[in-house]
Amino acid sequence: MTVRSRGVMEKCNYCVQRITHARINAEREERKIRDNEFTTACAQACPADAIIFGDLNDSNSRVAKLRAQQRNYGLLEELNNRPRTTYMAVVRNPNPELERAMDQREHATEQK
Ligand code: SF4
Repeated sequence: MTVRSRGVMEKCNYCVQRITHARINAEREERKIRDNEFTTACAQACPADAIIFGDLNDSNSRVAKLRAQQRNYGLLEELNNRPRTTYMAVVRNPNPELERAMDQREHATEQK
C-alpha cells in the first residue's frame, strides 16, 4: 500500500494483470488456470516463500490446503468481513518442560 502526496491510497489489486494474462492463456487453450501457473510479483520476489497466491475454489491448490488449516486466520473475521488475505498463526510450544530444556541448551551454548 502506498500513500501518495495528495493522500490517495493505492491498494493491492492482487496483480490483476498477471491474473488476466493467465486467464486469457487458459481460455485460448480451453482449460482452467493451473495451480502454480503464475503468482503475484510480491510472492515471486519473497525469498522466504511467505506469500502464497492461488485459487481458493480449487480444493487441491496449495493456498486452499493452507487456508483449511486450523492455524489460518483473517483480520477481524469475527465481524464477518471475509477478507481475501489471511494469515498463518505462529505455533509456539507451550510445554514448560520443553521450554526449560531449550533455555538450558541456550545457556550451555552461550557458555561455550
Ligand atoms: S505485488 Fe503483491 S502487493 Fe503488489 S499488487 Fe501484486 S499482489 Fe498486490
